[in-house]
Amino acid sequence: MIPSANTLFAERALLPGGWQRNVALSWGADGRLTSVESAVAPRNDSMLAAGPVLPGMCNLHSHAFQRAMAGLTEYLGHPQDSFWSWRDLMYRFAARLTPETLYAVARQLYIEMLKAGYTSVCEFHYIHHDIDGRPYANPARLSEQLIAAAHDAGIGLTLLPVLYQNSGFGGLPPLPQQARFIASGDWMLDLLARLAREHPVHDGLRYGAAPHSLRAVTPQALDALRAALHASDPLAPIHIHIAEQTREVDDGIVALGARPVRWLLDHQPVDERWCLVHATHLTPDETADLAASGAVAGLCPSTEANLGDGVFDAARYLNAGGRWGIGSDSHVSVSPLEELRLLEYGQRLRDQRRNVLACAAAPAVADRLYGQAVAGGAQAAARPIAGLAPGQRADFIVLDAEHPDLAWRRDDQLLAGLIFCQHGDNPIRDVYAGGRRVVAERRHPAEGGAGHAYRTALKTLLA
Ligand SMILES: [Zn+2]
Repeated sequence: MIPSANTLFAERALLPGGWQRNVALSWGADGRLTSVESAVAPRNDSMLAAGPVLPGMCNLHSHAFQRAMAGLTEYLGHPQDSFWSWRDLMYRFAARLTPETLYAVARQLYIEMLKAGYTSVCEFHYIHHDIDGRPYANPARLSEQLIAAAHDAGIGLTLLPVLYQNSGFGGLPPLPQQARFIASGDWMLDLLARLAREHPVHDGLRYGAAPHSLRAVTPQALDALRAALHASDPLAPIHIHIAEQTREVDDGIVALGARPVRWLLDHQPVDERWCLVHATHLTPDETADLAASGAVAGLCPSTEANLGDGVFDAARYLNAGGRWGIGSDSHVSVSPLEELRLLEYGQRLRDQRRNVLACAAAPAVADRLYGQAVAGGAQAAARPIAGLAPGQRADFIVLDAEHPDLAWRRDDQLLAGLIFCQHGDNPIRDVYAGGRRVVAERRHPAEGGAGHAYRTALKTLLA
């Protein structure tokens, strides 16, 4: 007999086909949904959702340690303050990180993500070595901090160790401040093998790889990594930073003879396994071809705004059927709702129009954005988190039906209230990951201790 704790009844729930009434979600001990039925009566042993139920969101791009420096670079240090001057500060910050402080920062961050509605995260993890740049005796030392932090917070994790080799296109030698990131392809593959052995994959944990960018890996290194990765794990996700900055695009043209996205599409078998993070600067042809590839565009609107990167042409990309998801990247914001709002607002400001990312077939812009971001995030994570359907992980959030932004709204107005309004308390009341309630009535059980450990870590990082 199925224990009562494994069935939840919701008066309203957002299923892959749209809003449904009187929905019963059931899941097994493995945390996967076994049935999703609508228009049913609640069973006597069902838990009752306190409000509308949505699938949890995947945060497809995170550098966890950067949480601790969010908001520390908001002053004019140079008349041409840019991504590149921000990066200098990030390097100084990365140089101080220890395994203990990384764990404390990551656990705090992952709890914040869960409370905000992210139930999974893809961690683009590039600090591998000790402070002096020498490998730890255990090469997985820092990766394991992220795995432990995700486990202890209760968030699903796709860990993407980063291959970082060069300081610029053409195989330029790394800078001294990049010493903690630098790894050979063989070291990376050994790390992945060790992780798979010591921390086997399950629905809440998976591995992939992240060649950092075309700046930081040569075409030969990229080829070798991709081939070896897919020889051992044919469906492993590959994430790469691709065209965040116009300078990066210009340098790519000089070094590779092509813009970075064009070069990647022409020289790598880019398909559903790939996630192109910050595909910000694209020509219309690149946009169409990226959409046709089946890869996911990893969009990080709050970070891209914070760093002054530029505006992705989401209108053109969505019209071409492109797949995409959202990430909080540098963590100036840890809210999927804010990422989706900023994504749409960037397009509105550029085009001087409203509801730019809606279309005739999907006129409710918030619904279209939320559903596509869930699907794209699941694809980028390569884990079964694609919404409320049998076989998917029981990752979902319960909204506060009484919240001022949500009260008395029709189904097709709910997500608009959630995404385009921002008043009062967090509208996300309960969060389930793998069928386990990890946030109850806006509180995570570990948030007190995690907050204290985070502040202690900050004290040393900021000293
Ligand atoms: Zn990034």
